[in-house]
Amino acid sequence: MALVVQKYGGSSLGTAERVLAVARRIVATRVAGNDVVVVASAMGDTTDELLDLAARVSRSPGPARELDMLLTSGERISNALLAIALTDLGHPACSLSGWQAGVFTSPDHGRAQIVDVLPTRVRQELDQGRIVMVAGFQGLSKDTDDVTTLGRGGSDTTAVALAGALRADVCEIYTDVDGVCTADPRIVPTARLLERIDYEDMLELAANGAKVLMPRSVEYARRHGVVIHVRSSFTDDPGTLVTTREETRMEKSTVTAIAHDRTSALLTITGVPDHPARIAQVFRVLADAEIDIDMPTRSRTGDLSFTVSRALAPTAAAVLRASDLRFETLTVDQTIGKISIVGAALRAAPGVAATLWETFAALEIDITTLSTSELRISTLCAEDDLDRAVRALHEVFELGGAGQATVYAGSGRGW
Ligand code: ASP
Ligand code: MG
Repeated sequence: MALVVQKYGGSSLGTAERVLAVARRIVATRVAGNDVVVVASAMGDTTDELLDLAARVSRSPGPARELDMLLTSGERISNALLAIALTDLGHPACSLSGWQAGVFTSPDHGRAQIVDVLPTRVRQELDQGRIVMVAGFQGLSKDTDDVTTLGRGGSDTTAVALAGALRADVCEIYTDVDGVCTADPRIVPTARLLERIDYEDMLELAANGAKVLMPRSVEYARRHGVVIHVRSSFTDDPGTLVTTREETRMEKSTVTAIAHDRTSALLTITGVPDHPARIAQVFRVLADAEIDIDMPTRSRTGDLSFTVSRALAPTAAAVLRASDLRFETLTVDQTIGKISIVGAALRAAPGVAATLWETFAALEIDITTLSTSELRISTLCAEDDLDRAVRALHEVFELGGAGQATVYAGSGRGW
């Protein structure tokens, strides 16, 4: 008997009918002779709706502890509903909150890290022959004895961490697209479903805009050797296996996939004194405000530019202006897009950067910044140019194919 951990995203659980459809899928896995542990996200847009409710009763964002108490209720609803549906279908099931399932985290509300998983209760319930539902995205801090959340999209990480702790045979992540594709099928109709992808490529894609998996969950899976199987909850199609490089070698071409991202803003500061210590101060001010930067570039003329998350751009600009740093101007561009070409063989393929540049040149698209790593080349361009650039690159690198991907719920999660 295998042990399967299944995770269902909010878009797979949008309505009572969808909850029932998911319950039937869980039953099918159970009837096939498996032990099943399920991690479900909150139904549909519940998490956003709960945040809206909080905003209607308070002008400030509210105490982080209480926000976490509020948000964790979303996952408890969907998991309890699934357990009710499963019981009605004749399969004993038991839903557990994150802390009942032994998910322990750091004390940081809203962005807690899983530090330990002790799934004693989960095992007990499995031994009793029950299907176990675990509320995703949440845990308990042993330091504060308070309930925490793992950050948006955190149920992926809950599922992978549980799969690791339980030594499950596979962690199936169900979503509203067929699996991991060569580009976002919403903007590239010829995007092809990947049968397999290695952890490294997947991590680069997830960290650079492909929303199909949360980056932290991929990192966790890689460290703990958890095989992830990304599948659609709307079909029985085979989906994508995320696993080690050895096992994916079969499919290796130079470029694996293209990710894009519309969640960054570009900050440009002019007149920063030309000394490493001055530049360090800029980044220190931002780090103290807990703002991550990416794609930094420095020009000879004293301009410094870098990206931050769009949501944090106003705060970033405010803390820089309020600091005692010396500079001339500070501009914030909220309309940039980022394109990342990902592939394990990129470094050994000298033509990629040239092809990239030629493609942008042919489209008359201006690239502002470029950064490269062993596995990725990222560029910034105007957000309006993003879609046609991704489509063109997808074609130039011949990533399309026969098996085209479908988007089901259109929730905006998917890729
Ligand atoms: N419900 C939470 C969110 O919307 C967690 C998750 O979906 O994984 O971010
Ligand atoms: Mg959700």
